[in-house]
Formats: sequence, C-alpha cells, structure tokens
Amino acid sequence: MDNISESMKRYMDQHQLNANYQKLMNQVYQDPDVRAFLDAHADQLNAEQINRSSANLYEYVNERNKVAAGKTTFAPGYEPKLVLNDHLVEVTYQPTNAQKKKLRQQALHRRVSAIMMPKLVKEATFDNFITDPDRQAALNAAVAFIKAYSADPKHFHQGLYLYGSFGVGKTYLLGAIANQLADMGIKSTLVHFPSFAVEMKNAIGNNQVAGRLEDVKRAPILMIDDIGADAMSAWVRDDILGVILEFRMQNELPTFFSSNFSMQQLETEHLAQTQRGDVEPLKAKRLMERIRFLAQEIEMIGENRRQK
Ligand code: ADP
Ligand code: MG
Repeated sequence: MDNISESMKRYMDQHQLNANYQKLMNQVYQDPDVRAFLDAHADQLNAEQINRSSANLYEYVNERNKVAAGKTTFAPGYEPKLVLNDHLVEVTYQPTNAQKKKLRQQALHRRVSAIMMPKLVKEATFDNFITDPDRQAALNAAVAFIKAYSADPKHFHQGLYLYGSFGVGKTYLLGAIANQLADMGIKSTLVHFPSFAVEMKNAIGNNQVAGRLEDVKRAPILMIDDIGADAMSAWVRDDILGVILEFRMQNELPTFFSSNFSMQQLETEHLAQTQRGDVEPLKAKRLMERIRFLAQEIEMIGENRRQK
C-alpha cells in the first residue's frame, strides 16, 4: 500500500512546491493522527485534494499540539478534529472533556437559584454523598422524591423537612437534591431563610424585593434552609413565611425545609414566640399545618462534619 507521506512528497515534487513548504508539510503528513485520518478516507481523497487541504491539516496539527502542551489556542477549551467535507479535509473544534464538564456545570447552576446559600451547595452531589446508617433514611427519602417527581411532575409530591443538629449535612443534602434535579432539567430555588428574612425587612416597600418574594413563592421546587435559626418578627412570620407557605400549599408546589428544630419544637419554641415576646399558639399551629402538608419530617443524626 502506498504510504501517504510518500505519495504527497511525490505530488509536491511534481508540482515544484517550495522546499520550506515541503519540509513543513512532510511533518504534517507523517503525523500519526493525520495519517490515520487520511488512510481512513483514502477512497474519497486524491493527492490533489489532500494538497488543497494542506492549510487545514497544518492548522490541525498545530492547534492539537498547543492543546496537548497546555498553551493558549485560538479556541480555548476546544480541541481540533479532522472532518471530511466535499472531498476536502476541514478542522472542526469540539469542546475538550474539561470544557464539556464546565459547560454542563454552568447549565446545571443556571437551574439552581441559590439565594444567600453557602457555597457548599454548588458542589453537593449524591456521588460524593457520604452515607452512613444515620443518614440513610434521609437519603432514601430524597431519592424517592426525585424519582416520584421526575416521573410525574404535574402532581403534588411532598418535600422533606430535614431536621437535626448543626453540621449533620442537612444543607448539603438539599444541595445534592437540587443539583440532581438540575441534571434532569428541573429548576429549583434554595433560600437561606434567616438571610432572606433580613433582606426582606431591610427593604420593605422596595419593588425589587416584592419581585424576589414572588419568585421564591412561585419556584417550581423551593427549599427553605435553616428555618428557625433566628428569631422571627411577627411580620416575617406572617407576611413572608406565611404568604409563601399559603401559596405553595394552595398550588401544591413541592417544598423542602431544613431546621435545627423538629416540627414540634419549631411550632412551640419558635413560631409561637415573636421577637417582642408575644405568644401566639394559634398562628403557629396554622403555619405548622401548612408545613406538615408540604413536607415529610425526617430526622438527620450523626457527627458534626464541619469540624473537619
Ligand atoms: P447542616 O446544614 O446540617 O448544618 P451542612 O450541610 O452545612 O450541615 O454540612 C456540614 C459540612 O459537612 C459541610 O462542609 C458539608 O460539605 C459536609 N457534608 C455534609 N454532609 C455530607 C455528606 N453526606 N457527604 C459529604 N460531605 C458532607
Ligand atoms: Mg445548614
């Protein structure tokens, strides 16, 4: 079988192409990737067509070497690939594996709105989820939700109310659920409730804030993180939390919670007490009814992972 670099050398000699050019192109034609490509398409390319493709072949080798050496290319994150187009060899640029991963991550993060959430939420995945018997129930319930919701998103699915002490991984699990849903094309919103409440309070009457409350209220899937971590004013309880819960219950929108308190504790120790010291058990009961409707209570126990 005729060797490609040999036949191209003959072609260049016959056509009296200049010596420097020949030297450069000889290297290109000896390149293993180029040879493999030309061999694979030998029946569709003659020497003249290969010669007309020479600038593209040269570009291919050059850019590929730059990618391999970690140098800046003219399309960072992309690598060249040879393709045949109408009896000419052309170069297309395809995302490198690293770039594909980055693009996937970006698409994913666009489907997760994190409002004042800690950074760990972005990195939380089920793949990296450390399971132990203590956390298994919560993990199972999370997986069950994802299965049920993705199979039938039009019907109501109860979210989870994860409670347990500081550092057991409640926020991490919410993040992993949100990221898994995002992977499946489903949008969710996570909101760190104490910070959100402060933001709302600092901007009463500001339209932007009203818009933000609307977005949270209507999020297809909402995760309210750290409910009960700070004392709530009656206004935050009734006009922010109450409004969100009422809307979500009426519209049967999946809602998750994380808290240091069990539902019972949240009701009596938190929702029933206002910052001013009033005790309002009826209001607390009404709010708890909504939370109980929206979410299934699951305790998370285990070591505090923040110490490491
Ligand atoms: P909580 O919200 O219950 O206070 P976090 O979710 O903030 O706890 O978790 C505390 C720390 O432990 C974080 O740094 C988090 O990244 C890590 N972490 C928690 N759960 C897991 C897990 N299952 N697998 C891996 N890392 C975890
Ligand atoms: Mg947390």
